[in-house]
Formats: sequence, structure tokens, C-alpha cells
Amino acid sequence: MNITYAYAAQDAQSRLAPFSYTPRELRDHDVQIEVLFCGVCHSDLHQVRNEWKNTVFPVVPGHEIVGRVTAVGAHTARYHVGDLVGVGCMVDSCRTCSSCEEGLEQYCEDGFTATYNGKDRQSGAITYGGYSTRVVVNEDFVLRVPENLELSGVAPLLCAGITTYSPLRHWGVGPGKKVGIVGLGGLGHMGVKLAHAMGAYVVLFTTSPSKIADGKRLGADEVVVSRDASQMAQHTNSIDFILNTVAAQHDLNPFIELLKRDGNMTLVGVPEYDHPAPHVATLIFKRRSVAGSLIGGIAETQEMLDFCGKHGITSDIEMIQINQVNEAYERMLKSDVKYRFVIDIDSLRQQTAA
Ligand code: NAP
Ligand code: ZN
Ligand code: ZN
Repeated sequence: MNITYAYAAQDAQSRLAPFSYTPRELRDHDVQIEVLFCGVCHSDLHQVRNEWKNTVFPVVPGHEIVGRVTAVGAHTARYHVGDLVGVGCMVDSCRTCSSCEEGLEQYCEDGFTATYNGKDRQSGAITYGGYSTRVVVNEDFVLRVPENLELSGVAPLLCAGITTYSPLRHWGVGPGKKVGIVGLGGLGHMGVKLAHAMGAYVVLFTTSPSKIADGKRLGADEVVVSRDASQMAQHTNSIDFILNTVAAQHDLNPFIELLKRDGNMTLVGVPEYDHPAPHVATLIFKRRSVAGSLIGGIAETQEMLDFCGKHGITSDIEMIQINQVNEAYERMLKSDVKYRFVIDIDSLRQQTAA
């Protein structure tokens, strides 16, 4: 029996609860993965509550997946039974458009297939994510996990890691650059660690004074409480690049004013309601720009994992059992997570065995 146990939400108002389904038969290039750990991303919460207005219920969230290969398809070449692997936000794309050909599958002109709440390109079935005992994924969208890293702390790299790594690389972050990271949550704490490892001078902007010491421990050279205008003013016109990870609507202007001439602030948070448009003159007078960025391509995700392996970087996690996930969502809404919840999927296996 191939029955797979999971946690799903049945509608935007309901809590996540036990669910089961039968995954697809292995296709020629598939990898079957026994999920060991799955991170809890704020995007899971947005989608479970249908804040992006596109959720198909029941939804099984989870796109920060690490596990072990337990079976492979007839022509799968890259992975073998026993390999430690990861799966992030994507499980397929058109593979032929200009973005896919450049390794930017996240920007696939035809839309990438999301790990959950996506539509399988062959069968049309809705995809189910990593709050599950098992996932089946085409080998081209499976990542190799560095053997030297603690596995539970690797899971969040598959979304929080790549979503921060990609824009930091794209905007040339490195030695000699002053970089701001806004928000110390799952994405933000990875942004601080990665920007620090890339050699930049890192300033963390947080709304939570209680996170100042952690910000420094994680690699920030300075920590600014963003609701304190006098602390903010000390950085006016001085920052090359700001990565804004905040999950809620807020005023962008106080951050844009901190950018140097030609500086850029890239948004990765996708709040339920858009931010108010920033002041035009604040952009024009210093040729500043505001951009967005979506996760990262498969090759870059592997590059990020290898970078983390080399630098010994993992996520700071709080491990939870599957039945604590609803409570974890409530805590995430209060910015009360240090700094990523990760579900021990063995707790789901044990629950179903009992
Ligand atoms: P998270 O762990 O909840 O962290 C968000 C952080 O934002 C909080 O810890 C808090 O940091 C800050 N914050 C929250 N509410 C705020 C408010 N009202 N005003 C100012 N700051 C506030 O969330 P996450 O998992 O890192 O995800 C962050 C966002 O990125 C979500 O919207 C998620 O959907 C999105 N996302 C986007 C991509 C992409 O590809 N673009 C990928 C993954 C996730 P402080 O306490 O330090 O202020
Ligand atoms: Zn995510
Ligand atoms: Zn494509």
C-alpha cells in the first residue's frame, strides 16, 4: 500500500488536520522520498488561509523538504535509494522557455509547477507538499544535500535559504557592500547569515527589540529597531542594497531613504495586502529602485546548498511535532519564531502507526 499520510487544511478557516492520499505511480524519472523534516514557511500560512486567493483545497503545505530516497523510476539517473535529498518550492516547469533555458525555472513563462497547490503538468492533479510522510518528484527538481550539515536545519534552506541567496547574489552583495536585511524571521535570519558569509557589512532592521542580541549573534554588524526614527536616520543615504523580508503590509519609504544613490531595495515578502506605493521623488532624486525576487532556480539552489555546506550554514530552528503546527502558525503571526519551525515528520509517521 502506497498510502501517504499528511496534514491538510480543508478550507481557509479550518485548522490543519490528518489527511491521507495515494501518490502517483513512479514515472521514469521520478524519485520517491521519505520526508524526514519539513520547514514551516510563512507562505504556507498565507496559502492555508487563502490570503493569495488561489488556494485549491484540501491543501497539504510544505516546500522546505529534506528526506531520503526510497525508490526511483526506471530511468532515474541522478539519485539512488539511500541518498539524502531536498525539494524546494518547485517540482516542474515547461523546461523550454527562455527563463527555463537560463536556469530560471521560477520565472518560467508558462508558470512553474509549485510543490503544493500546483497542477501536475501531465495529470492535472493538484500537488501536495512536505507536511507528508512521502513525496514523489521528478529528479530534475531534486537537490543534493551536503552531508556535513545537520539535516533538520537544512530543510529551511530549500525556501528561506534560496529566496535570500538569489537576490543577494543578483545584486552583487559581497565585501565592501553595506547591506540591510529587514525582518528577522525565517527568511530574514537566513539573509543575515548569508550576507555575512558573502563578506558584506550587514545591518539588520527589526521591529522586535528582543531580537537585537540574536541579530548580532547571527552575523549582523549592527541592529536597528526600525520603529525608532532616530536610529533609522543614522543610516540615511548609506546602504547599497536592502533585502526586505517582511510578511505584512508596511511603509517602504523609511527604508528607501536609507539607500545610497543607485541603491536597490528588493522585496521578497508577499503580504496579503500590498504596501502603499512609495514616494516617487525619493526614488527619482537618487536613482534608487525597488525590485522583487522569487525564490531561485534549481542550479542556483544547488549552488546555495553547496555554499552553505562549505560555510557550515544552517537555519536556526525550533523543532515541532506535526500536531503543533497550528499553534506554530499563530506564533509565526506574532513574529515569535526563532527562527524557523521545522516539523519532525517522524511524529506524523508515529501518529499514523498508533
Ligand atoms: P516570518 O518568519 O513570519 O518572518 C517575517 C518577519 O517580518 C517577522 O519575523 C518580523 O520580523 C517581520 N514582521 C512581521 N510583521 C511585521 C509588521 N507588521 N511590520 C514590520 N515587520 C513585520 O516569515 P518568512 O517565512 O520569513 O516569510 C516572509 C515573507 O516572505 C512572507 O510574506 C512569505 O510569504 C514571503 N516569501 C516569499 C518568497 C519569494 O520567493 N519571494 C519565498 C518565501 C517566502 P521582526 O520581528 O524582526 O520585525
Ligand atoms: Zn517558502
Ligand atoms: Zn519555462
